[in-house]
Amino acid sequence: MSIHPSSSAPVPSLAAPSARVAAVVRHAVATGLLGEATPVAGFIDTDGVRASVAALHEAFPGVPAVLHTFAAKASSLVPVLRLLARCGMGCEVASPGELRLALDAGFAPSVIVLDSPAKTRDEIRRALAVGVAINADNLDEVARIAALRPADAVSAIGLRVNPQVGGGAIGAMSTATATSKFGVALRDPGARERVISAFAAHPWLTRLHAHVGSQGCSLELIAAGIGETYRLAEEINARLGRRQVTGLDIGGGLPVNFADDETRPTFAAYAAALRSAVPGLFDGRYELVTEFGRSLLAKNGFIGALVEYAKEAGGRRVALTHAGAQTATRTVFMPEAWPLRVGAFDAEGRPKGGPPVVQDIAGPCCFAGDVVAHARPLPELRAGDFVVLYDTGAYYFSTPWAYNSLPRPAVYGFRLAGTGGDGEPEVRFAPVRDAQSLESVSAESGLAHADALVDPGN
Ligand SMILES: *Cc1c(COP(=O)(O)O)cnc(C)c1O
Repeated sequence: MSIHPSSSAPVPSLAAPSARVAAVVRHAVATGLLGEATPVAGFIDTDGVRASVAALHEAFPGVPAVLHTFAAKASSLVPVLRLLARCGMGCEVASPGELRLALDAGFAPSVIVLDSPAKTRDEIRRALAVGVAINADNLDEVARIAALRPADAVSAIGLRVNPQVGGGAIGAMSTATATSKFGVALRDPGARERVISAFAAHPWLTRLHAHVGSQGCSLELIAAGIGETYRLAEEINARLGRRQVTGLDIGGGLPVNFADDETRPTFAAYAAALRSAVPGLFDGRYELVTEFGRSLLAKNGFIGALVEYAKEAGGRRVALTHAGAQTATRTVFMPEAWPLRVGAFDAEGRPKGGPPVVQDIAGPCCFAGDVVAHARPLPELRAGDFVVLYDTGAYYFSTPWAYNSLPRPAVYGFRLAGTGGDGEPEVRFAPVRDAQSLESVSAESGLAHADALVDPGN
């Protein structure tokens, strides 16, 4: 495993996130990145990303061998991945598409980890040929890898286990329940012995992997799962009488606070929880791999959207905006599990004042449930105003949903420089992803086969 030191670029100390967002919204509106023609866009705070990566690296001081990877699904955008690569991160991928993005972004194969839960033979062959690390999901997959693995393969190979320590507050985000689809369920009858036999049979199996959960899981639960995995590694090595398990991939899943600006829990709190629950983990006998997604990016991004209309229905104010289920899918479908803070901005992109009025913040999709915030007290929104959905840097605008043939929104990176002549910070934007064109929407909807179903020959 090659270890990347964190980038030596200075990490700026940053103003409160919501103050930074306010400066960016104002400039995005002034420069037309947000407005009638482009009524929704995503924004990424590049200095914020650098600072989050630095905080992660600083949380593991003195740990001899640790590779921090970024879970690509949390922000599957090549420029974001390249920024993270330059900051010294590796990359966790879970599909052929994500592997392609990671390679295009410039990650060395030695710092890429492939975790897809349903790897095809072709996917395994390709991963072995490229030399990325692979975590097998189950023992049948270990057998597949054994059959496909050339003798000179350089890929580190691990096995994902499910320590079955239980679920967190969000069922869909809990991967260590008794019946989770991920990994080898360690507490099932005979499972531990089967795992040990697999390691005995395959000396190239050198890692254990566990990703216990994500949003809604406590540090204690995550640490308990990692503790179980560590003890299994110790047991395998003791039983085999050799140090075969040399690496522990401890997953990601640090929850994010969506309620306000504060980052909590911090990476330092995570490392401290692990240190006290699993003291042997950091003593250098195991190479560690982490896989963080949401906790690195969520608070470093937001969605800005135009309020197209504001109306009243049954005594409720409703703002019809351009940010709905196409870009805030989870929040719309599971509003209790994924509540988002919403900010109100006026037509010039300045924070709105005024007494709070209970309003629904709705999106542009044609189904009644397309509401990102229900009965939210906010300064009264009017047509031409803007809303901000905070903390949406991971799993939101980067992963849009094609419902209603709504185009993927543009994404911009931003940096705040010193104050200009007017005393306001200077904002610099960089394009990350272009807004999808209508030509592209049609092309992705089968335009090339337009006649396929009416052609008498077919
Ligand atoms: C999604 C995922 C992660 C990242 O989870 P976050 O909650 O975004 O930190 C890490 N490892 C695996 C295997 C995953 O599937």
